[in-house]
Amino acid sequence: VQMEKQVVDGLREVFQSGRSRLLQYRKQQHRAPNTYNTSLFELISIENDIKLVESDMADWAAPRPVKKNLNSTLDDVYIKPKPLGVVLIIGTWNYSWAMILQPLVGAIAVGNAAVLKPSELSEHSARLMKELLPLYLDKEMYQVVTGRVLETQELLKQRFDHIFYTGSSTVGKLVMEAAARHLTPVTLELGGKSPCYVDKNCDIVVGCRRITWGKFANCGQMCIAPDYILCEPSIQDRIVEEIQKTLLEFYHKDPKSSPDYCRIINTRHFDRVLALMNECTIALGGESDRSQCYIAPTVLKNVLPHFKIMQEEIFGPLLPIITVNDLSEAIHLINAREKPLARYVFSSDKTVFFSLPVSGGVTVNYVLMHYTVDTLPFGGVGNSGMGRYHGRHTFDQLSHHRACLIKSFAMESLNDARYPPLTAARLRK
Ligand code: NAD
Repeated sequence: VQMEKQVVDGLREVFQSGRSRLLQYRKQQHRAPNTYNTSLFELISIENDIKLVESDMADWAAPRPVKKNLNSTLDDVYIKPKPLGVVLIIGTWNYSWAMILQPLVGAIAVGNAAVLKPSELSEHSARLMKELLPLYLDKEMYQVVTGRVLETQELLKQRFDHIFYTGSSTVGKLVMEAAARHLTPVTLELGGKSPCYVDKNCDIVVGCRRITWGKFANCGQMCIAPDYILCEPSIQDRIVEEIQKTLLEFYHKDPKSSPDYCRIINTRHFDRVLALMNECTIALGGESDRSQCYIAPTVLKNVLPHFKIMQEEIFGPLLPIITVNDLSEAIHLINAREKPLARYVFSSDKTVFFSLPVSGGVTVNYVLMHYTVDTLPFGGVGNSGMGRYHGRHTFDQLSHHRACLIKSFAMESLNDARYPPLTAARLRK
């Protein structure tokens, strides 16, 4: 308990020294971890964010003039982004580096101090992060705290100036509850069931190839993975067929021995994902091996909305297909559920993709890709989260936008109308 308090108190003291606010300091901190091996898929997005911040940070940090009103014509009026103070960043296991380092890039860019809490489930990454980061970053300003749920709960008792949390909606609520005790603002990057509507008027071959890539990458353990497919009954079997062909191409006959096919994080999640298959008709896959936490790429057909698999985010390599009679039935089904983090639609008809209900983000005729554009805000809505990040959006999210007005001492008579006693003559002025 003392340890968590000491870390946060220490960071607040260092933050108050002011060194993290110097532009040169922030640039130097960004360059330092950039020497990591970025060959890993996950690290590319971090590197891109660092590059963008490096080139544009001075513009983002500069005063932003605003339109003036009559009273302020002669004044300097602008918004100045300021650091918030000490930020807590809590990450997930599925992209254990990106979910911590991407928010950190923005926190550094603004000039905040930060406590980083990587997930205990990806314990090797957490340990490595704790070991490596102090070698590159100012270790007094940015600190990694490792530990399990108990340690995270202790951290959450401390007063932070912002909490940036990535994880499940269930834990997101606990984080927000803890933050409320100190009126700390939060960014919640959560998950959910991201639907994928496949229109009969689309290129089904290309569409299924893309869906197969996005669903089974990292064994489906991705917050914006397409969770389930909605389509008309007439194309269900074609979709299964095309996914089967693509799976053969990507992972060959035996995905278990493919170096490109991942595993489920642990046996708890393995059991959870496997149990979701219970009521379902398996169209493809279905094999598993608990000793390796292996679940084959699996497609389930004729799934019904009340099945267990449709009640929670799958976060695994199971792809249910639900048939609907038309687009409006699909929209109705989506609207009856929590607002998801992403929505996908495959169609050649613009009226189809413009009719999609609200979601954190959307990619049309592909999956996942809106995440990779660092000028787009990434974040959820409703149950899938609040706040947004990536590039400039992280900078804005982790800064206070101070309203500034600077007056000169000249022309005091212009202010007279404001001062008592308020006579009719003064008001007319
Ligand atoms: P999780 O919510 O179980 O854990 C995330 C973090 O919360 C971990 O660091 C953990 O230590 C901490 N935690 C867990 N239980 C806690 C508790 N009771 N009190 C305080 N802290 C607690 O999530 P996960 O299993 O690591 O990740 C999967 C979830 O994250 C999925 O729902 C996925 O969609 C979501 N996710 C979202 C994004 C995004 O960018 N929106 C990215 C990746 C994952």
